[in-house]
Amino acid sequence: MTDLMARRRALLGPNMSTFYDEPVHLVRGEGVWLWDAEGRRYLDCYNNVAHVGHCNPRVVEALCRQAGTLNTHTRYLHEGILDYVDRLTATFAEPLKTAILTCTGSEANDIALRMAEAMTGKRGIVATDATYHGNTALVSHLSRSNVPEVGFGLGGLIRHVEAPDSYRIPDPDGQRFAAKVEAAVADLERSGVGFAALIVCPLFLNEGFPTQAEGWLRPAAEVARRAGGLLICDEVQSGFGRSGSHFWAHQRQGVVPDVVTLGKPMGNGHPVAGVVTSEAVMARFRTAFRYFNTFGGNPVSCAVAMAVLDEVEAQGLQGNARRIGTLAAARLRALAERFPMIGDVRESGMVFGAEFVTDRAAKTPDPAYADRVVNAMRDRGVLLSKLGRHRNTLKIRPPMPFGAEHLDILIGTLEAVLTDLDPAA
Ligand code: PMP
Repeated sequence: MTDLMARRRALLGPNMSTFYDEPVHLVRGEGVWLWDAEGRRYLDCYNNVAHVGHCNPRVVEALCRQAGTLNTHTRYLHEGILDYVDRLTATFAEPLKTAILTCTGSEANDIALRMAEAMTGKRGIVATDATYHGNTALVSHLSRSNVPEVGFGLGGLIRHVEAPDSYRIPDPDGQRFAAKVEAAVADLERSGVGFAALIVCPLFLNEGFPTQAEGWLRPAAEVARRAGGLLICDEVQSGFGRSGSHFWAHQRQGVVPDVVTLGKPMGNGHPVAGVVTSEAVMARFRTAFRYFNTFGGNPVSCAVAMAVLDEVEAQGLQGNARRIGTLAAARLRALAERFPMIGDVRESGMVFGAEFVTDRAAKTPDPAYADRVVNAMRDRGVLLSKLGRHRNTLKIRPPMPFGAEHLDILIGTLEAVLTDLDPAA
């Protein structure tokens, strides 16, 4: 372990993040389980990349079959990309019927921002102050974690608005958030940059997945449209049925975005991501930027991505997300009755968690306790993480085949950890 850390530092450079005080060295995965180099088994409660389960046989078979037949770039004709985009866009409402495939979510968001520029002739972007959208020169400025120290002076194009926080900031119908967006739009217009787009994850997953009524985002979307800008929904985390109630989380929000970006779960670990938009936006973008992506949408990526869609459907994984999410929230609420350090429980399908506080009345965030819990869970063989506006929210986001038997293990382990870890110690 120490040796691997030293080699990482020497070969990959400093400042690379790892999960947990004691990083995990994984060598094998299957379904919702992972094994480390010593043969120890971990329950994976965090990996949304392995959407349909680690080493899913249908996905592995599709990957191997296509890799053994042909892999090449997208300047050749191939039906794989067409069949996939046809199938993918069938899950979206009109007019979202065209797509560009990329290799990462960052690239997808970069394209989305350029689409907004192509459509509006302006470059100003509004995002929340606790989000992460990726790491290209432009997109990295949207993110409030991993904020770059330098970066071509692009930071001036961005305005950050306060992230929604259902636990502390009452905003039942999204009007308060919409007013913040409106002020940011006005500021961009006043400054001469101009407003091009509002970009949000429709479940605000990096912000701490606040509890929101269906349609909560509609007022902010209307503000963006009225101002002549685009609504970009970053579904890199929230898509492919994870919300349980809908295949895409923006559908739960009752909005039809101008652009939707996809990534992480799309290839179950294989690097494939994408941008879905209307014919009109696509046509304008393809004229304004003569975009080409060597690897994005190659035959292997498309075969893998198709197998992921097949598996979500065949295994009824969206329904599973809904069932397990509801059950998980109930189990977490039962824990909250016994453990006062849990201030709030939240759930959006197969994403659920609890916020830790030092004082329930004042709702004072306790990020240090959240850290201790995450590490203690890891030591007991359950992998999860924490994030949110105050870095104090357990984020539990397992592969979609996570079942009730796995939830039992997760909740049992959490109960033991909360019993053992004294917040005052
Ligand atoms: N958008 C969101 C919401 C993300 O969570 C991430 C990755 N954490 C990205 C974009 C960037 O994706 P990638 O790492 O594939 O570039």
